[in-house]
Amino acid sequence: MSSRMEEPNDIAGDDPWWAIAALSPVSLCIVGLDGSVVMSNAAFAAMVGRGADELRGMHFRDLTHADDVGRGQELFDEALRGERTTYRTTTRLLDADGHVVWGDISVALVRGAGGDPQYFIGQVLDVTRDRADRAKLTETVREGVREGARERTRSDVMLDSVDVGMVLLDSDGRYERINRQQQVILEIAYPEDHLGRAGQCGEVYAADGVTALTSEQQPCSRAARGEEFEDQRIWVGATPGDRRALAASARSVRDDRGRRDGAALSFTDVTDLFESLRAREVFVASVSHELRTPLTVVLGHLELLLDQDELPEEVSRELRVVARSAVRLRALVADLLDPATTMAGDRTRGEIALDCVSTDLTGLVVEVVESALPGALAAHVVLAARTHGTTRVVLDPHRVRQVVENLVGNAVKYTDSGGRVDVVLDLRDHEAVLSVADTGIGIEAGDVAQLFTPFFRADPARRRISPGLGLGLGIARSIVLAHGGRLEVHSEPGRGSTFVATLPVGGPA
Ligand code: ADP
Repeated sequence: MSSRMEEPNDIAGDDPWWAIAALSPVSLCIVGLDGSVVMSNAAFAAMVGRGADELRGMHFRDLTHADDVGRGQELFDEALRGERTTYRTTTRLLDADGHVVWGDISVALVRGAGGDPQYFIGQVLDVTRDRADRAKLTETVREGVREGARERTRSDVMLDSVDVGMVLLDSDGRYERINRQQQVILEIAYPEDHLGRAGQCGEVYAADGVTALTSEQQPCSRAARGEEFEDQRIWVGATPGDRRALAASARSVRDDRGRRDGAALSFTDVTDLFESLRAREVFVASVSHELRTPLTVVLGHLELLLDQDELPEEVSRELRVVARSAVRLRALVADLLDPATTMAGDRTRGEIALDCVSTDLTGLVVEVVESALPGALAAHVVLAARTHGTTRVVLDPHRVRQVVENLVGNAVKYTDSGGRVDVVLDLRDHEAVLSVADTGIGIEAGDVAQLFTPFFRADPARRRISPGLGLGLGIARSIVLAHGGRLEVHSEPGRGSTFVATLPVGGPA
């Protein structure tokens, strides 16, 4: 601790930073490692109604409501043990007359050059008023529930009967109304109580389930800023194993003249869905692993057999058929193990790692089309490609080849004999646009939205005896999205489909 810290006075002196601290409207204090106040500014002294001299040496326990001392001490000890460097908590402080003052307290442990703890810096916001508003809000909800249909409108009854949490924010981001389910969610997400205002940090985590959301990232903060969104995936709850997954959506509320006047949010509990998806992923991954080893053995031995010169022609022909199927099986297993598979239906869970280089996309497309020609010929489907000069694009050639192979392969696969597939590569406004159009079976409008969902196969495709797992398109879209591009589909049942992949020429941002 610097020598200044030992001076027996308030935060003040010739250093402008200390002067700023002294004059700050935010309550500031420095607490020693034994938990007693070393210094405090005027705002803090005013907040707890005591003089700076009186405060010096007082233990924070003596300034805290008895019910909140335990939690405060716990956080303090965790910081001292090195388990956390900072913490934020809402605590009831007591002023000199024993009145409760609600504090939103941010604490940081300052360490010396050698890493040893020196002292704590605390910043305290007086949130007593917010608390009172919150209490009123809670009371309104409870009242509503207690009073039953007598006081509550029919729409209140309806809102409380759904298992989706709902929040109505006013134009300042304050909670104007919540329904009963949201009350339950708030209790899980904010065990230390919610102050009825958007942006409070609590036990709220990002889609990965571990990264705490900052105030700005909270769904209510985003909605209060006027953002509208669907399905922001968050996890809430203090204990990692018991967290609930929620999908949050927000819409702006407008007054008669169309001006923004708050926002409405909904929070749907998607934990069960999430758990079952995770269980399926684990199952698929372990089955695929088990399949890969024997497949590698089969392929290795087939290669050895095919290398033998003295094999009768018909035996080697049959062996080549077996080898082709085994190679196809290996590709399917690889799809199942592709990390992009698990991201296909859920963009929020992370990006695919790309290895981007400047690539001749025209050459890549032509190569893929050429290798698909024998298959198209056998299916009596005309396959034609039209490209314009050399289109150099910064991309991951291995991944983008996977996309083009999937789109061209599907177009041929889902087109009947006598049909055609046209592959066109264009350059427009710094974007490479690849369109793969077929005159095939097409896709029902209701199925289009699900095409990118892992394992989805539309009915006609299922009825046709065509191999496929329904994974390719989801993977293709994840790859295109990771490149900063988009993948769109236009289709008419019975007439054909066009898939359009657009990639920024300069590569992912
Ligand atoms: P797969 O082809 O292995 O089933 P995909 O993920 O590539 O898996 O495609 C998912 C589904 O989308 C297919 O099962 C099929 O129903 C539909 N589909 C994809 N491409 C086309 C197309 N060109 N024409 C008609 N349906 C298609």
